[in-house]
Amino acid sequence: MRRVRAYVGLGANIGDASETLATGVRTLAVLPGVRLHAVSRLYVTRPVGVEDQPPFRNAVVALDVPAGPDRQTGAIALLVALKGLERAFGRQERERWGPRELDLDLLLFGRARLAIDRPPEGVSLDAGNADRLLDVPHPEAANRLFVLAPLGDIAARLVPPGWKETVATAAARRRRVEGDDAALPIAAWDADREAWQPIVAPEAPPARST
Ligand code: ADP
Ligand code: MG
Repeated sequence: MRRVRAYVGLGANIGDASETLATGVRTLAVLPGVRLHAVSRLYVTRPVGVEDQPPFRNAVVALDVPAGPDRQTGAIALLVALKGLERAFGRQERERWGPRELDLDLLLFGRARLAIDRPPEGVSLDAGNADRLLDVPHPEAANRLFVLAPLGDIAARLVPPGWKETVATAAARRRRVEGDDAALPIAAWDADREAWQPIVAPEAPPARST
């Protein structure tokens, strides 16, 4: 079967968000025809848009997914699977950019550039709030440190289609704008245990007595 490398962003800020993301990674890995290629570190991130809400946990995974008969069909199939998982994790309809149980965004689908409008009526996908059914690369990815920092862990040197810079360059640019504490890594994925392994903070230097 031909496969495409897709990058999926995970975010949550309700309940045990770290555990939700771990379960999310494990669940994405066993979707039909999908192979888990890489998992970023887990980040604590500052909310963007609606700022008065709990901090988020964010991560990004690289998945090798069935290419489908064409890129558009393959990408929509993955989006439908992501939306189904969001619902399975109890995602409720709320304000855009507000709190959520689990957000799964399709960031990149190989080299594809897609702008797919919603069908006029009748499809089973919930309408959502965005203008399009699917925009790939995700239009906001380049402007959000909570996406770029974890994406940079697993695809630093990638130049996504339509971008003029690598993920690492974009992440450094956004880090200067948003500040280091907008996205702090707190754990790394342990592939054997399929769980987050907390990152031990470097010890503070001993206080000097004068
Ligand atoms: P957001 O992630 O922007 O906070 P939602 O998760 O509520 O918002 O998504 C709203 C709608 O965005 C979805 O119903 C989906 O059809 C649409 N959408 C467009 N492009 C993408 C993409 N690349 N990944 C995920 N959803 C997308
Ligand atoms: Mg989303």
